[in-house]
Amino acid sequence: MIIKNVTVIDGAGGPPQPGRDVHIEDGRFVDIRPARMKTAENSSKATGPAVLDGSGSYLIPGLWESHTHLTGMSMSVPVTDRPAFIHSALTGYVKTGVTSVCELGGPTNAMRRLRAASQANPSTPSLYFAGRSFTGVNGWPLSAVRGTVPNGTGENPGIVPSVEIDSVDSARWLLADQLGEIDYVKCIYDGKNDTGKLPLVALKAMVADAHRANKKVLVHIATGADLRDAVAVGADCIEHSFIPADPADEREAAQIAELLAETGTLYCPTIVTWEQLARTGEPAYLEELATSGILSADDIATVAARTSWGEPFPQHPIAESKIRFDYTMRTLHLFHEAGVKLVAGSDVPLAVTTPALALLRELQLFAMAGIPGSDIITAATSHAATKIGKQGTVGTVTIGAVADAILLDANPLTDIARLTNSRHRRAVIKDGELVLR
Ligand SMILES: [Zn+2]
Repeated sequence: MIIKNVTVIDGAGGPPQPGRDVHIEDGRFVDIRPARMKTAENSSKATGPAVLDGSGSYLIPGLWESHTHLTGMSMSVPVTDRPAFIHSALTGYVKTGVTSVCELGGPTNAMRRLRAASQANPSTPSLYFAGRSFTGVNGWPLSAVRGTVPNGTGENPGIVPSVEIDSVDSARWLLADQLGEIDYVKCIYDGKNDTGKLPLVALKAMVADAHRANKKVLVHIATGADLRDAVAVGADCIEHSFIPADPADEREAAQIAELLAETGTLYCPTIVTWEQLARTGEPAYLEELATSGILSADDIATVAARTSWGEPFPQHPIAESKIRFDYTMRTLHLFHEAGVKLVAGSDVPLAVTTPALALLRELQLFAMAGIPGSDIITAATSHAATKIGKQGTVGTVTIGAVADAILLDANPLTDIARLTNSRHRRAVIKDGELVLR
């Protein structure tokens, strides 16, 4: 396939390249060169690669959802409906331009089966997974929900059991058990007064073992102190923005931004999680999502009718989520200015009709927090690939990379709505195949 005369935005932070012909072969970008004008010879060719006219359009890498729990979410519906639920979530991603999805904690076998089933299908995204996440004994996400059976199936909606770790020995033993079949390791370093918290020495040992196996370690944290501990033992990416010690004090954010920039640790704040948890049950919030193009009028009714809508989420009180949301929105620009590698991920889709829309809302929140368009795209593409060690092979529009891309009819660098609003989406390309046009 050739996309002719398009403006390329590489997703790696390079300047826009107008007037390019982008050649795709065998699922990869094989050439990106100044556009050639049509000649009698090449326009009369009856055969040859398919040509897509990119005039006036912008080509960006396919987006990444870099933090979700696909199998966990499916537990909110009855067992028999789960395959359809997951299928619709997966096709929803690609329709939205999300061509890669990272599961951050879920059953290893289920993800392996799901990946095998979706691998040859360009209308579903590339899947990467952590397998079961590691936490402390009685730690989150187990202890908060143990014993409750809210959906009548014997399982907790949205919550996937993790591996509980009490020592360095158990950490190394249980990590070795799944390290060979997972793409990266997810650890949960969260707990008040050290109850249910993964021991820091165990986290350190897991990071060392994972790095020896060339795998990244992504660490869920709660406070700034947790974040510092995780960085000190070598975490590759911090999952979730932290709860500030004092919401009025922006110095903590500035200091943490400096630390992350210095150590090259990536930061995936999942702001939309805090927004959804803080504003659950609020009709005005659904109206705002509709105004932003995330929900339709019908979607508002669908979300409002959910039994979970308006219910507090385990472990994350509404007031605390609000503090976390406001503080992150006020201080995210400090991380950008310090040069921290930001990553876009949404975690939960509580106020949207398909999980992909939660990621689009995260991109809108990045923009509202003052992050420039080019850096938002980088956060949702090449930084996401870097987070799991795939940099250079996918997540950019560069020669040799996997040909996952979105063709937009207007410049997303000057207004992120041109990326998040479906009417600007001219085409989605997955593994070199035109999936949507
Ligand atoms: Zn998560």
